[in-house]
Amino acid sequence: MNFKIHRGTHEIGGSCVEVWTENTRILLDFGMPLVEPNGNEFDFSKYKLLEVGELIQKGVLPDIKGLYDDSDKLLDGVIISHAHQDHYGLLNFINPNVRHFLGEATHKIIELNNIFTPQDIKIVSATYFEKEQPFQIGDISITPYWADHSAFDAYSFLVEANGKSIFYSGDFRSHGRKANVFKRFTHNAPQNVDYLLLEGTTIGRSDKPFKTEPEIENELVEVFRQPEKINLVYTSGQNIDRLVSIYKACVRTNKTFVVDVYVAYVLKELSQYAGIPFPSINFEILKVMFPHYTSRRLTNQGNQAILYQFKEYKITKEEISSQFKDTVMVVRPSMQFDLDHIPGIEGGNIIYSMWEGYLKKAGTRKFMDYLTNRQFIFYNIHTSGHADTETLKQMVEAINPKHIVPIHTFNGNEYQKIFTIPIIEMNDGETKEI
Ligand SMILES: [Zn+2]
Repeated sequence: MNFKIHRGTHEIGGSCVEVWTENTRILLDFGMPLVEPNGNEFDFSKYKLLEVGELIQKGVLPDIKGLYDDSDKLLDGVIISHAHQDHYGLLNFINPNVRHFLGEATHKIIELNNIFTPQDIKIVSATYFEKEQPFQIGDISITPYWADHSAFDAYSFLVEANGKSIFYSGDFRSHGRKANVFKRFTHNAPQNVDYLLLEGTTIGRSDKPFKTEPEIENELVEVFRQPEKINLVYTSGQNIDRLVSIYKACVRTNKTFVVDVYVAYVLKELSQYAGIPFPSINFEILKVMFPHYTSRRLTNQGNQAILYQFKEYKITKEEISSQFKDTVMVVRPSMQFDLDHIPGIEGGNIIYSMWEGYLKKAGTRKFMDYLTNRQFIFYNIHTSGHADTETLKQMVEAINPKHIVPIHTFNGNEYQKIFTIPIIEMNDGETKEI
């Protein structure tokens, strides 16, 4: 068996690992880069008019035979670990006849991103895998392990062929709402692994233990308890763990939890896979706001049905305006227009609940400035979607692999300070034969 990391040995984002035997070739993830080769933020709009050949030349797409056109034998399968852009964002370039293997909920998230974002990724040939159920592609066997991560439905993979094995950690943590999933993994981890491809997003950033999602919930409760104020929370509409923390904090403080139609739709669609709150008679405190731009976009697309299904749970701007002290609302920059039309909203709390790095982005900065200029008090309440050092050590201890290969990290050179197992630092495009 051989493997090659096309991107990710020295960067976070654009994850793509090729694994092959004499007969079979597969890819693990096919993500959009987050950084340019010079370290600047990656901006796909610069490249969007280019053809596949030009994108390969510019290093945006990896040069992989049988992945794009029909001139070579097609790749046998691409396996997606979870629905974060940096793990699946380039899928629309893949030949539609290549088989895709992914979690059913992951496919659902990719499809709803087609509705709510400019993305257009159609997966024609999808096979859904189940956690801990091995499946076979040619002579390669893959076992998905469920992971605790800020993306819903995330997996790590054990990849085996010819008596050799690789474990691809994907993105994971142990301080989220699925902490027990990681705990179970440590008691049930694959053994005799030759190479552990271990994500190190947080290596070099911090060696302290990270706050847990229940601790985030407690911090939110503290802020929500302040009297007479509306609480706005800027978080990812797809960070389900965080939305659950906000929901629970609302229950504890007797607040109405207002989400907009986009977040409502995410919760509704994913509620079939997990016991999460969504607009329904079972979750009375959950109300749905219809933002101007999102509603117009859905109507123009002919997707009015998405709006109508929430009309029983609708809350108007006037109703929000009459009950600031009882309201917690999830917001994002495109809702500024709506906030402008809620009279008297000034002077509430704005809780920023995402990675700090995004605060440097112009759009985020502008939105935060808009709110603080309206006398909102800024709070930063967040925990990482990725493993802290202790959790990384626990995964290594559980698997006890023969080698560790740094991936999804800017600081692969620091792995040897943390782990006692031999570290093999590879370069993008380098082949390792096992
Ligand atoms: Zn991720």
